[in-house]
Amino acid sequence: MAHLTISEIARVLESGHNPQFSNATVSRLLLDSRQFSSADGVLFFALRGKNHDGHGYIHHLVQKGVKYFVVEEIPPQIEGVSFIKVEDSLAALQRLAHFIREKSTAKIVAITGSNGKTVVKEWLAQILQKQYSVCRSPKSYNSQIGVPLSIWELEPHHQVGIFEAGISEPCEMEKLEAMLSPEFGIFTNIGSAHEANFENRQQKINEKLKLFTDCKKLVYEEDGSERAKHIKSFAEKNSVELLSWSRYERPADINARIETFADGSKITVNQGGEEWGFTIPFADEASVQNAMHCLRMAVELGISKEILAETFSRLSPVEMRLQMKSGSSNNLIINDAYNSDLESLRVALHYLDHHAGKRERVLVLSDMLQTGLDEKQLSQEISEVINRFELHRVIAIGPQLSLHGLQIKAQLDLYSDTEEFLENRFRYHIKDSAILLKGARPFAFEKISQLLEEQSHETVLNIYMNRMVHNLNYFRAKLKPKTKLMAMVKAFSYGSGSYEVANLLQFHKVDYLGVAYADEGVALRKAGISLPILVLNAEPSAFHDLVNFRLEPEIYGFHQLKSFQEVVAREGLNEPFPIHLKLETGMHRLGFEESQLKDMLELLQQTNVLKVVSAFSHLAASDDAAERDFTLGQIQKFERMTEVLQHGLGYEFIRHISNSGGISNYPEAHFDMVRLGVGLYGIGSNENDRQHLQVASELLATVSQVKQVEAGESVGYGRSFVADYTMSIAVVSIGYADGFRRSLSNGVGEVSIRGKRYPVVGRVCMDMVMIDVTDSDVQEGDKVEVFGQTISVYELSQKMDTIPYEVLTGISHRVKRVYFME
Ligand SMILES: *Cc1c(COP(=O)(O)O)cnc(C)c1O
Repeated sequence: MAHLTISEIARVLESGHNPQFSNATVSRLLLDSRQFSSADGVLFFALRGKNHDGHGYIHHLVQKGVKYFVVEEIPPQIEGVSFIKVEDSLAALQRLAHFIREKSTAKIVAITGSNGKTVVKEWLAQILQKQYSVCRSPKSYNSQIGVPLSIWELEPHHQVGIFEAGISEPCEMEKLEAMLSPEFGIFTNIGSAHEANFENRQQKINEKLKLFTDCKKLVYEEDGSERAKHIKSFAEKNSVELLSWSRYERPADINARIETFADGSKITVNQGGEEWGFTIPFADEASVQNAMHCLRMAVELGISKEILAETFSRLSPVEMRLQMKSGSSNNLIINDAYNSDLESLRVALHYLDHHAGKRERVLVLSDMLQTGLDEKQLSQEISEVINRFELHRVIAIGPQLSLHGLQIKAQLDLYSDTEEFLENRFRYHIKDSAILLKGARPFAFEKISQLLEEQSHETVLNIYMNRMVHNLNYFRAKLKPKTKLMAMVKAFSYGSGSYEVANLLQFHKVDYLGVAYADEGVALRKAGISLPILVLNAEPSAFHDLVNFRLEPEIYGFHQLKSFQEVVAREGLNEPFPIHLKLETGMHRLGFEESQLKDMLELLQQTNVLKVVSAFSHLAASDDAAERDFTLGQIQKFERMTEVLQHGLGYEFIRHISNSGGISNYPEAHFDMVRLGVGLYGIGSNENDRQHLQVASELLATVSQVKQVEAGESVGYGRSFVADYTMSIAVVSIGYADGFRRSLSNGVGEVSIRGKRYPVVGRVCMDMVMIDVTDSDVQEGDKVEVFGQTISVYELSQKMDTIPYEVLTGISHRVKRVYFME
């Protein structure tokens, strides 16, 4: 990473600074206050975006010891720190990146295209590392923010820098080009992602090509005729030399002939008449394309055939997903199968830090292989990275790590190999911890993760966090900039897991969380969630918890209002306690009637211990177009009632009535805040939403056994099914106690295995169900989809004669939740 002094940075940004700190060095950039781990050498950029403003976190960071800030506005009354004031913080960040790029003597390779950027980058790094000191962007940092952060990692000793650049709208690439000024380029391919923001494919290709305007040489595949045509005319206009390859015998610098096998491909290349070959351990088309891009670039940079053949044969898959699972003893297990090197260690430790909440942080780390660094130096650098985070314990596995003493603040345990650790793991009991597993492949850390995971039957609900973020953004795009968003995480986040989902939402800066009962809120607070939380069913027995954990109750009746007020008054708080008034507009569940407003206002006017922060109601049929008139009536009544309240209270409060369906179907009813529930999890209230939303989870079980049933034999309880002929039956590990209802018995329900559907035979049991797999190749151990890709939640809910809400919340707690994120 770069090291710059405050005065240098201020000079680059053409701004002033606090002279007391002129010579202080900055070594790390922080853009998101939640990724804070230690204040050492940190420069915080207060960025303003559509849904957040970094300036709001400055106070908090000053308290944690951060001293240097780039801001658009200097906050009042903060002393002893240095503010560097700029017009536009993002532009300043990019300018700083440009400065670092200009100072570097490394050859810069920039990669863009729709797919394959990250894989090409990772593989090219694996190859070039044999000969050069390589810097590359972490993970898929390729955005307006990711690229400057990546450039910040460039150091004087680096000889090659490999960076990804990605755009989602026109006019973004110019800025990335200005920062990177690449000498070499790779154009991977073009797909349909982000099509919506571009007029057409041609515009998208041309926008991406802007990255290479000042490039000397550009690698591309000759075979896509439209893409190749655009690239050629671009290259001619900008005097860029083309480095081409082809797999279909088109004229190119390098021609490739590909033979694929079950577990790999043999690639024979013809380069100017000379033939030679190598293998890669992948058989799919995309991998061949990615490998060829790397090959063409590596040849240009003078990598020998021997090194190429050797590294290609051992390319490791680029696993971009971090997997998070709940383990036994209330542990959280974060499994990072990403390449094991310093940079990815740093990125993974950030994840750990951010997802651990109040749990203790534990790192299990193996030796890093093939980093090109001297072992002693490596140990030192690993120690440095680790010490930036607050870790409780580090378990280091491997001969290198145990030999070359790590210097670590946390408790350190050394083992020479994974087996030794597993044999000794009972020496101490790891509990209530977040455990990051970061091991190079040969160390087989999957053995550790299996042991740490809960011993449960093999039925899992996979939850894709990135889909939830997609859904959140989909609804956010419908809101006016000032409209707040409350995310409903009641009922275990509609079955998806409270803490994990709440933490994600906190990270993505929703304004409020909503839970059903105080207990749910207390659990979130204990896990470290600090967002304001509304409790819908605030019962007198929980009033103390509400106050102690700062959970804000829905107030829906006189009796409840009075007794809550008494509890708060007894606590003698310094400030009035926030409450939310629930108004009755047509749902006829909880809430004050219009006729009760006057009395309620009187009560509120008599007390100064409560403050109404919001007034809200709930739509009874926002997803039903046939009930439009009724819904509009509810909205009108709500407006009327809130006006009366406004008048009586004499201060501002937040008004909200829309749930997911309301957000989509009644844009006029967003008021000051909306309450997003089921839509967040991917369930749409109309056809359009269903098309754009992504169902965040899939429910999977396993085939426990496959057996033959002869004609005349029966299957399951009550002998409700009798075979007419010889059948194959698979026993699947899910039953009504998991949420797979008994009403799905005897052909009503279906499950899918590798995309093919199989009907239920006999009655669904408590923990198992039998399916008909006659004439199929279904085997013991196969994954069974209950809902997901093939069978949608909508379909399953119809077969169960209910709605998706009930399917999701009916998945029992014994089904293990596994979280994925990009
Ligand atoms: C559950 C709930 C919501 C969210 O509803 P969805 O239809 O899931 O979006 C909003 N408001 C209240 C009061 C709720 O109970």
